[in-house]
Amino acid sequence: MAQILDGRKLSEKIKDKVKADVAKLGQYGIEVGLGLLLVGDNPASKQYLNATLHACVKPGIKAHQFKLPDNVSINEVLNLVHSINKDERINGLLMFLPLPKRINARRVINEIAPDKDIDGLGSLSIGRLAADESTFQIFKQGDYESLYSGEFIPAVSSYLPCTPFGVIRLLEHYGVEIKGKHAVVVGKSLAVGKPLSLMLLVKEATVTVCHRETKDLKYFIRQADIICSATGIKGLIKEDMVKDGAVVVDIGINVLEDGTIVGDVDFAAVEKKASFITPVPGGVGPVTIAMLLENTVRSAQKGHYMKHPLIIG
Ligand code: NAD
Repeated sequence: MAQILDGRKLSEKIKDKVKADVAKLGQYGIEVGLGLLLVGDNPASKQYLNATLHACVKPGIKAHQFKLPDNVSINEVLNLVHSINKDERINGLLMFLPLPKRINARRVINEIAPDKDIDGLGSLSIGRLAADESTFQIFKQGDYESLYSGEFIPAVSSYLPCTPFGVIRLLEHYGVEIKGKHAVVVGKSLAVGKPLSLMLLVKEATVTVCHRETKDLKYFIRQADIICSATGIKGLIKEDMVKDGAVVVDIGINVLEDGTIVGDVDFAAVEKKASFITPVPGGVGPVTIAMLLENTVRSAQKGHYMKHPLIIG
């Protein structure tokens, strides 16, 4: 029976540290603010918005909500992003995706100031990760917190995409060895599959990326030491596709008609074969939100440190 990779537990630990960092900034009169921008009324985005609002409470991050109607013009969205970029109260901006189809999401994402791109999806943030120039490359295994212990704040002005970074943090928290392992990532989106593949490569896994055009998915997944699935297809990963002792990370989210949330993996059958497995809900999701809060406080710390290098810590 697999050991559960408990995202809720890890997220609480991360939020405790964020809370301490927020309190420290509070001593200097600094309030940490997170901008949340929702365009339209996508139900999954609303759910994510509510979960994020709830998660801000414990660490004391002030949430600033912005809601635009589904029929808004791209010009109005851009104007709002520009005003948030200049808003001193807001250290990071999360824009919920997908945007309505008419709106070019990449254009909008790239207008978010890199210093406030705490979802790490702008071209600069993704490019730095791909070019070995992001904070991910200077983090040592398990050393994320000491890097930000107070006296040293890395000057890199880009943040890591929250979901893939959350996956890596979850694996490392449970001592799962990545180096030298064969990781198979299912899904190649810019938000999840692609940056996760890059991160696993940085950690020196051998990485295979599968997607909807992959012929014979089972052939590839059967070879995996670590399986990371991010497709949104319920039951895609079945027990006969998983080798004994594999580590299974389920990133997918599917909301069933009765409101139940399930992932991509046939959990009940696969947990009997895997060595570690994430539940859905309670696995990657909470850590994703914790990463968002962590990136937000880092942004506030960086602004403070750059203005007052001698008094932080
Ligand atoms: P997406 O639609 O952009 O990408 C889906 C990917 O799945 C594509 O690359 C596609 O090629 C691949 N795919 C589709 N059908 C496939 C098949 N039959 N076989 C193999 N690959 C297939 O979605 P996304 O934004 O990457 O999100 C993926 C899933 O992860 C969704 O369910 C989303 O809700 C979830 N998600 C979860 C979190 C979290 O925090 N847990 C965060 C972001 C996204």
